[in-house]
Amino acid sequence: MKYNCDLISDLLPLYKDDICSETTKKIVEEHIAECPDCKKILNSLNDVTIDEKIVKEKEQVIDSQAKFFKRKSALAGSIIALIFAIPILVCLIVNLATGAGLTWFFIVLAGILVAASLIVVPLMVPENKMITTMGSFTASVMLLLGIICIYSHGNWFPVAASATLFGLTLCFAPFIVYRRPVNAYVKNFKGLAIMCAYTAAFVLMMLCIGLLVGMKEFFPMAFAVAMPLVAMCWAVFAIVRYLRFNAAVKTGLSITAIGILSGILDLLANTAAVSESATGVVVSSYSSLPIMLSIGGVGILIAGIGFLVGKFKGGKK
Ligand SMILES: [Zn+2]
Repeated sequence: MKYNCDLISDLLPLYKDDICSETTKKIVEEHIAECPDCKKILNSLNDVTIDEKIVKEKEQVIDSQAKFFKRKSALAGSIIALIFAIPILVCLIVNLATGAGLTWFFIVLAGILVAASLIVVPLMVPENKMITTMGSFTASVMLLLGIICIYSHGNWFPVAASATLFGLTLCFAPFIVYRRPVNAYVKNFKGLAIMCAYTAAFVLMMLCIGLLVGMKEFFPMAFAVAMPLVAMCWAVFAIVRYLRFNAAVKTGLSITAIGILSGILDLLANTAAVSESATGVVVSSYSSLPIMLSIGGVGILIAGIGFLVGKFKGGKK
């Protein structure tokens, strides 16, 4: 062979892309005819090109399919929105014709918006469908409650709204923290973020109820019962999520925390009841404190056994 393989393999990419001179072409072709090794290299170069082509085509197909479905779902969303508009229009006309001004029409409108938020929004929104749908659903439910409250001359809106918000937070928060753009902010603190959302929604609801019922009647007892319960949730969450122990130890510690905090709840609730007894609240002489503290003791026992078993197993390795 006139030329060595290193030289030819350097030229092969140029030959493959057809950007070399006729002389080089001839040299490469003559060499390949005699050298199976270099022929193999040329074949593999051509294969890579085919692979690239396939990948590109695949991407194009997926892209056009995605665009197609986006257009279709936007169309479906528009049609459904139009269908929703029919009863809205009918009610608008009927309400204007029969009543003095618009009254119950707004309730119909808000009710249909609730339905639309679940059906039309996910079809029409191009990105972040889940979060946008949850947000629009929550907003439309709030609007519906607000309008009904105004229409019925009630003062219950803050309680109903905050209680609904609390329930929706319970359902939505675990999904929202895993979605863009929220997941970029919470990163590895998803559990913590969910707990904070739950606590905030709960406190808001309690405040709204307190404002409606009257702070003085509501708060001493509500605080006595709610605070230990919230602390219980946080304690179990912190133990399960952040302690680096085996499952038995975590279970035992959780039981202990629940026992102790139930005891505190019992004490606080009894104290609150005694201070309210003048206002007619029946005071129970029964105290579950010893039972709660025994439960705490059992928890410590389980945690201790779990710890020892874990150590024994670890020592054997
Ligand atoms: Zn060669």
